[in-house]
Amino acid sequence: MKKRCDRNRKRSKRRAIYCPIHGCYLDSASRKYGIYADKVQHLQQHGVGKHTALMMIATQATVVLDGEWLEAFWCEQCQETNWYCVRKCDRTYQISVPAYELWQRAIGVINPEGNPTVGEFTRRNARMTGHSVAKQYKFVE
Ligand SMILES: [Zn+2]
Repeated sequence: MKKRCDRNRKRSKRRAIYCPIHGCYLDSASRKYGIYADKVQHLQQHGVGKHTALMMIATQATVVLDGEWLEAFWCEQCQETNWYCVRKCDRTYQISVPAYELWQRAIGVINPEGNPTVGEFTRRNARMTGHSVAKQYKFVE
């Protein structure tokens, strides 16, 4: 059951994505990086039924997930940029810290481990936010 919510009547350009720690708005600090699936289990993890998942993989080999992506956000209260996996459900967004495995399936983001392109990605990102992003990858360890 859904409750009608009139609290957020004022149109804001910001999406309703909040810091999981502070509950404040997060500012996007990157573009969206889509997530793909090339295994039936991957799709199942994202709530696709087994038969549908089997068919999708059989016909498309690689499926780009709908309404789910990786994106970096700046939190004013955390004073840092963090990466989250964003899932859009209706008009709300759920965010979670992306699992290591998810990074390997993100389109355009290369896992920092042993890939030469990530240095460039990190540098570009650091310039954009004015922050060192090295610590963003701490969960990889
Ligand atoms: Zn915060």
